[in-house]
Amino acid sequence: MHPQIDHKIISEWKSRIDEFRVRKTRMGAYALAVLIVSVGLFASFRHPLLLLPVPFCFIYMLLDWLIVRTSPLLRCPHCGLSPVGTSTRSSPLDADYCANCHHWLVNPSGPR
Ligand SMILES: [Zn+2]
Repeated sequence: MHPQIDHKIISEWKSRIDEFRVRKTRMGAYALAVLIVSVGLFASFRHPLLLLPVPFCFIYMLLDWLIVRTSPLLRCPHCGLSPVGTSTRSSPLDADYCANCHHWLVNPSGPR
């Protein structure tokens, strides 16, 4: 079965990816800011409780790949499922077309 081209799906997918990237960058910036502030405070006051946010930042980074796989923003606009399916380890962000409903998510002949 050849993937089908629907330009509405392609543009909807592009806006979902863009929104996801904006949110992800914002969350990463918060985690980094918390990390820098808590290390800076610890360096000034030498109180171990000030390092408490540090493990949370690392947990956040570990959860990062999970967020990519579970975000409702990264579901196929046509069928509502993850475009890479469940049995693969590749990221929905790299998907060219939906493995479930065989619709293109990016324009196969356009620029990437
Ligand atoms: Zn689909």
